Parts: sequence; C-alpha cells; structure tokens
Amino acid sequence: MTMTMSIPASVTAGAGSGDGLPPPVAELRGVRKVYYKPDGSVMVEALRGVDIMIRKGESVAIMGASGSGKSTLMNILGCLDRPTGGDYLLGGVSVSGMTDEALSAFRGRTIGFVFQAFNLIPQETVEDNVGVPLFYQGVPRAQRRERAIEALTTVGLGDRLGHRPRELSGGQQQRVAIARALVTRPVVLMADEPTGNLDSSTGKAILQTIMDLHAGGMTLIVVTHDDSVAARCQRIIRLRDGLVESDGPAR
Ligand code: ADP
Ligand code: MG
Repeated sequence: MTMTMSIPASVTAGAGSGDGLPPPVAELRGVRKVYYKPDGSVMVEALRGVDIMIRKGESVAIMGASGSGKSTLMNILGCLDRPTGGDYLLGGVSVSGMTDEALSAFRGRTIGFVFQAFNLIPQETVEDNVGVPLFYQGVPRAQRRERAIEALTTVGLGDRLGHRPRELSGGQQQRVAIARALVTRPVVLMADEPTGNLDSSTGKAILQTIMDLHAGGMTLIVVTHDDSVAARCQRIIRLRDGLVESDGPAR
C-alpha cells in the first residue's frame, strides 16, 4: 500500500463533478467527537453524529450557542483534531487513514485557518509571521518573501512588512493572520470567530476582506455568533448540543 498523499485534482482544478455541481471540498459523515477524562471515562460528547457536505466556492456560517460544538467541528474540519467516530473526507480523501504527518502536510497545503486570537509571533516581523507556513513547507527564503508580500498586499498591508505585531492595531494584526492563512494558497479558508476580538467597525472591515476573498472564488467556512456575519454567507449551519439543528440558505 502506498501512503503518498497529494491533493486530489477534484479539489484544485475546480472541475465540476458529473452532476454539474462544484465538487465537495469537505464532507463529514456521522462525525462524533468524545473528549475523555484521563482515566478513560466519557467526559463530553461534543459532536454526536454530524453530516455536512461543503462544496467548492461555498460560503458557510456555523452558528450555535456556546458549548454546542462549533470549535470542535472547526478543529475537525481544519484537521487540527480527528473525529472519534464517523469519517471526514477532505477533497474526497478520508482523513482516518492518514498518519498524523500526512494529515498535517495535507492540512498545510489545503486549509488556511484564522483564529479569534490572532496567534502571531510577537518577536517576528509581519513578513516573517506570514512566511511561517511556507517555512514549514521548505519554501526558500526569497520565495517566502515574495509570497508574503503578495498575501499582505491582498489584505492591504503591503507597506507594513518590517513591523512587529505590537506595532499594529488589532484589525491590522488580524489582517496579518489572514495573510498568513492565504500564503499557502489554500483551497478553503476557515475562521473561528474572526471578528470576535475586534470592535464593530474594525470587525466589519475584516469581514469585508474575508468576503472579498470569497467573491474571488475562495471556499469559506466561518464560525460566528454574529447574525450580521452569518447573513453575508450563502448558507448557515446551526449546531445544538453536538448535532446539526438546521442547515440551509442564509436568505
Ligand atoms: P463551542 O465552540 O460551540 O462553544 P466547543 O466545541 O468548544 O463549543 O465545546 C463543545 C463541548 O465540548 C463543550 O461542552 C465543551 O466544554 C467540551 N470541550 C471542548 N473542548 C474540550 C476538551 N479539549 N476537553 C474536554 N471537553 C471539551
Ligand atoms: Mg468555540
């Protein structure tokens, strides 16, 4: 059996599947996630059988009360964690069969992740922060620089390359984090409460940047508490107690 992993053509090419619909990018089948106590007894059933299919080019908001399982779901969609039951197919490939190494390499090439806390490295420059994912992919320095500048220009920060995170506003720091998510040219952008740490006008500007990326063809999955954020997405999935309560167009 070969363990060579590459991104399936269906994800990268944008070719339609036979039914004329864009190809599935992420598909959850009966996904469960149980968090265990150290002694092995069940602690929390955070996801209790979730079925979701997201196609290339969609924009999807994930909503639900605190504790309903949103972050757990995002961590699985983003391959930061694995289901304890059911299956997750990313670009048609099941993550269950992948080693941790293969999964993290696959994640690095497929998914860009934006967190509520910007998670920048304080002592590194903006340019170097954005280049970090490429560093882990072994991309040479000159090319890292070129692609960091390209990503930072996309988010309107092409003139801040040498700044440190503390020299930037919260909104600018989140733009750096978005540039870091884009620098690998991912298939999907995933964001968990991306405007949660920002005041409302800064949050609106960040949301606009994210929506511009979607308009440019990026598949977008965003966890949010905010109805005005969700309303800008095409589709809203609501979680309740670890299950999908509703899944449909945002209207
Ligand atoms: P949300 O993001 O919707 O607030 P979470 O996915 O963070 O929900 O949490 C869902 C449930 O799983 C909650 O009951 C939470 O306490 C629990 N949970 C989340 N992460 C862990 C963990 N690492 N260990 C144990 N329980 C967890
Ligand atoms: Mg959460």
